[in-house]
Amino acid sequence: MTQAKILDGKWLAELVLTDIASKVEKLTSSGKRPPGLAVILVGDNPASKTYVAGKHKSAKRCGFKTFDITLAVTASAEQVKQAILSCNENLEVDGILLQLPLPKQLQANPLLDLINPSKDADGLHPLNQGLLLRGEGKIRPCTPVGCMLLIDLAYSGVNVGQVATLSDIKPIDLSGKKAIVIGRSILVGKPAATLLLERNATVTVAHSKTADIASGCREADVVVAAVGIPEFVKGSWIKEGAVVIDVGINRLETGKLAGDIQFQEASARASAITPVPGGVGPMTVAMLMRNTLQAYHG
Ligand code: NAD
Repeated sequence: MTQAKILDGKWLAELVLTDIASKVEKLTSSGKRPPGLAVILVGDNPASKTYVAGKHKSAKRCGFKTFDITLAVTASAEQVKQAILSCNENLEVDGILLQLPLPKQLQANPLLDLINPSKDADGLHPLNQGLLLRGEGKIRPCTPVGCMLLIDLAYSGVNVGQVATLSDIKPIDLSGKKAIVIGRSILVGKPAATLLLERNATVTVAHSKTADIASGCREADVVVAAVGIPEFVKGSWIKEGAVVIDVGINRLETGKLAGDIQFQEASARASAITPVPGGVGPMTVAMLMRNTLQAYHG
């Protein structure tokens, strides 16, 4: 039995935020304006409000200027469009985030498409998704990029909690390794598979129509689960020594959060595993800040 390295996303995110904050400090102390992040929240979904508050706090931590735009739950598509267009035009705004999900009268994609691709902090604009597929583009979807940094941490010699900087964690080459991504959403599954391919992994994408996901999982050196079903991936599916990334955030009836992977059982077999909460979630926010700084530099 292995003792899995717990991939503490809060700790790793703090390294990322520290790195960004020191870069922003250099910019502002040389007289330049700070990067700006605009967050558009439509309605009062409690989970969205919590996420937006977390993003605001991290943006402040990085020294960014923040622009919070809150629209009523009854907002029309035209009102959201005008909010996005004003952020596109605002020269102090480098990154724009439209918090999802939107109230049911609004369709997300036509609104997301209005965001200037060079200010697309979430990396979800079709242009940025297309550039990702071509292996180009600098603004990439936050959650999958956060997963890759956690995978880099897993393979690095860096121990969580030790004194370290972001530069101690190098991008890992996954040549010869098998990866499975469970889930094929535009937000997580598909871009995660693309990023793993970019690192030379041999990638299987499993989804709701895949037969026998367990067998595919048992062969995988890297498992990324983004399904949205609590403990969907059983501990017995995990290959000894695998690196296991749990993207899922599921609210149980008890009010507790659970991931998509049976944590205790999987951690007895994995070499490294992310907890839920405190794994991928903080990394998603940190990558939003990184994208905003990237957008600032253009
Ligand atoms: P989604 O609903 O868009 O996609 C879920 C995917 O799971 C689909 O592609 C579907 O094919 C697959 N799936 C569904 N049922 C399945 C089954 N029985 N067997 C195999 N595959 C199945 O969800 P998403 O936006 O990709 O998010 C997935 C999970 O990740 C959710 O729990 C979400 O809350 C979480 N999430 C977390 C973060 C974070 O920052 N930690 C970010 C985004 C999403």
